[in-house]
Amino acid sequence: MDRFRVEVLSATPNPQQVIWAAMHQDYSEGFVYDDRDRFPDERKAGELMIKHLLKGDRGHYGPIEHPQIVFNVGYFPHSTMQQLRTHRTGISFDVQSGRYTGERIIAAAKGELDVEAVFYLRPVGDYGNRQGKKYFYSPEQRQEDLDWCLAACKRYQQRIEEGLSEEHARGLIPFDVRQHFVMSCNARSLMHILDLRAKADAQLEIQKLCDLLMVHFRAWAPELAAWYEASRLGKARLSP
Ligand SMILES: Cc1cc2nc3c(=O)[nH]c(=O)nc-3n(C[C@H](O)[C@H](O)[C@H](O)COP(=O)(O)OP(=O)(O)OC[C@H]3O[C@@H](n4cnc5c(N)ncnc54)[C@H](O)[C@@H]3O)c2cc1C
Repeated sequence: MDRFRVEVLSATPNPQQVIWAAMHQDYSEGFVYDDRDRFPDERKAGELMIKHLLKGDRGHYGPIEHPQIVFNVGYFPHSTMQQLRTHRTGISFDVQSGRYTGERIIAAAKGELDVEAVFYLRPVGDYGNRQGKKYFYSPEQRQEDLDWCLAACKRYQQRIEEGLSEEHARGLIPFDVRQHFVMSCNARSLMHILDLRAKADAQLEIQKLCDLLMVHFRAWAPELAAWYEASRLGKARLSP
């Protein structure tokens, strides 16, 4: 899958117990913390939470907003970061800005780094646009576009050597420079991102990002992820 990477920097260690505890506090007379030794285990908490909060479209999503996960996302094109950053609720970002970095662009200009490590171009293949027009992105076109990226790296290097700042010279490079970022979200906002961006009409690269997010979601909150996968993933079941 290209060079794309998604790694977990940190995550609530017991997400399904936390959701269960929040749900349990809704109807408990006592202070639930004091019962923590009697909490159901992670798997059982997940099953109970699905039964009482989610099954049959109950839509009681509040308790699912408590567990947090922090991802490090790498090597995706700028356009994917832009799409993701439109989501604001329960989600936070720190993104390479191009004010402080640029060494890898110069390394590509010098031939020390593969230009494909710095810029993303779609693979050769058949594509369509939003109006239904079909086209083939050929190996020749892709090579010409790589040459274009390399030429832009050289112009960037030249302007930096002439004294321009990185934030000024970054305007010269092609749009889909690869950009690393940190994204944190809660279990609900993670599912919201997947609702909107894993579906078939979302852009190719953000669908790939969702595939990688799903790998971590399954490992982090297995029962919740299994419910999500069975009832919502890829079904374009959008929240309001
Ligand atoms: C297929 C697709 C194509 C898109 N194309 C474009 C495009 O061409 N240009 C462009 O600029 N954007 C585009 N967007 C982004 C889109 O317009 C939204 O900005 C983006 O999806 C974030 O909205 P959200 O509902 O996910 O909000 P989030 O911030 O993730 O919020 C989650 C939920 O909280 C609620 N909420 C959040 N903020 C508000 C608010 N201010 N008022 C009321 N309720 C709120 C809503 O219920 C919302 O669904 C596209 C999105 C998709 C999925």
